[in-house]
Amino acid sequence: MTSVLRILLWDQLTTEISSLKDIDMKNDVIFFAELKNECTYVKHHKKKLVFLLSAMRHFAKEMVEQGYRVSYVHLNDADNTGFFVSEVQRAIKRYQPKAIVITWPSDYRTLKMIQLLQADVDIDIELREDDRFLIHQKEFAQWAQKNKEIRMEFFYRMMRKKYSILMDGDQPTGGQWNYDAENRKFPKNKLDIPPTYQAVEDHITQDVINIVAEHFHDHFGTLTPFFFAVTRQQAKQALSLFIQNRLAFFGEYQDAMIQHEPWMYHSHLGLYINIGLLTPLECIEAAEASYRNHQTPLNAVEGFIRQILGWREYVHGIYWLKMPEYKAMNSLNAQRSLPSFFWNTETSMNCLKQCLSETRDNAYAHHIQRLMVLGNFSLLAGLNPVEVNEWYLIVYADAHEWVELPNVSGMILFADGGYLASKPYAASGAYINKMSNYCKGCQYSVEDKTGPNACPFNYLYWNFLMQHRPELQKNHRLKMIYATLDRMSEEKIKNIQMDSESFFNQLS
Ligand SMILES: Cc1cc2nc3c(=O)[nH]c(=O)nc-3n(C[C@H](O)[C@H](O)[C@H](O)COP(=O)(O)OP(=O)(O)OC[C@H]3O[C@@H](n4cnc5c(N)ncnc54)[C@H](O)[C@@H]3O)c2cc1C
Ligand code: SF4
Repeated sequence: MTSVLRILLWDQLTTEISSLKDIDMKNDVIFFAELKNECTYVKHHKKKLVFLLSAMRHFAKEMVEQGYRVSYVHLNDADNTGFFVSEVQRAIKRYQPKAIVITWPSDYRTLKMIQLLQADVDIDIELREDDRFLIHQKEFAQWAQKNKEIRMEFFYRMMRKKYSILMDGDQPTGGQWNYDAENRKFPKNKLDIPPTYQAVEDHITQDVINIVAEHFHDHFGTLTPFFFAVTRQQAKQALSLFIQNRLAFFGEYQDAMIQHEPWMYHSHLGLYINIGLLTPLECIEAAEASYRNHQTPLNAVEGFIRQILGWREYVHGIYWLKMPEYKAMNSLNAQRSLPSFFWNTETSMNCLKQCLSETRDNAYAHHIQRLMVLGNFSLLAGLNPVEVNEWYLIVYADAHEWVELPNVSGMILFADGGYLASKPYAASGAYINKMSNYCKGCQYSVEDKTGPNACPFNYLYWNFLMQHRPELQKNHRLKMIYATLDRMSEEKIKNIQMDSESFFNQLS
């Protein structure tokens, strides 16, 4: 006899999830399904699939060991239909539950599937708030309504106060909200970057690697070696290694990019937080404790906490506030198709090549690679938001639409017309040269502004600003840049336009 069927999705791998809060261990069944359609609706990176499927298998096993009743549909099961709605329908037939409970899914697409399911079955489906986020959707919407300009910095301050994080009374610790002035440097000397967390592969992960090799061999990305944590215990080890070994330099070198150093001082924890193996608050608290215990400087700790308490919650709020319209937005009318080198990494632009190869091998690139190299190129080249969003959703192990879409459409492409970011993150080669050593190994010259050897970012940057003058010139943060453009000679403008045109011709 089953009272309640409790459905867990592959990014809901925690016993703290709201759908399990009042579970009756004897009578309720927890339902997991490995769904072919979820693996292929976009062709996720092979490593991402191993991560998600192996983590789900490990979590279900732990639940069985703890005495829960678990129903688990494997990808290879003969009767597995591969679709969410039909798999839940089969489970309903098997267990005849009186009710179904699910925690609010992380993306709109799955929400629609749950609504479809509800229309098709007689049993009530209770959808519960996902309280793993630190601000509920309704509260975010109220905050957004109260503020004319919904900027991340003000949201972040509100969250610091709400959770009393890095606060001394009602004042920010150290007297400032933000220590970015001390951050974002390029190292002067060679760095001794600590090794990253490497999980030991067990037979469950090995089985999943074999399945992915067999069923998803045509997906993007390198399958092995596989090194991500797949259990909460392993993810906690990764967190503690980050706090001990990397956090101290997180802020200082947050934006730095060094050839053949894909991991830098970043945490590599986002993929675990996103599926429930770690909670955002425990990461924030571990970082704050490290500062309070005098192990880590404030600029590093504040910088890290801002990413999780600020940016992560902010983009989640915007996603649910603005979906489904957000996904269709294309305010700059960008229509160019994604170049093939996004998949095969064959480009002579060294910065792009490095970031793309690391993405292929690791299902990871750090924030500044995603934003200022790959994202900046996508913006300047006018790549179509639909294709860019799909690419980003496929290639990163931490990619789920709620966090990928606002970062891509809002942060990099300005497709939302400036709702999320106050100005486009557009930059010429000078920024990449300042924050990386990629230009040293590039066939283009970052010093040259136009001509066959010139860094394409240099002329594409100005070409972008010229092309989008009608939409952007009123933006007060771009006033100085447009004033510089207005001082340019006609000849220079012509050269920029000609170089851009020939670059785009080659691209297509
Ligand atoms: C174009 C683009 C696409 C992105 N797509 C994703 C995505 O699909 N999934 C994803 O989790 N993050 C995404 N990000 C945000 C960020 O780049 C990643 O969270 C980060 O690189 C993950 O690596 P990390 O865990 O080492 O993060 P760290 O650099 O160590 O940062 C710590 C944590 O802060 C949070 N964080 C930092 N920046 C952001 C941000 N802009 N939005 C939301 N959370 C943030 C993450 O939880 C991250 O783990 C994207 C950023 C850009 C510019
Ligand atoms: S010169 Fe331009 S294309 Fe080459 S690595 Fe530097 S920024 Fe990238």
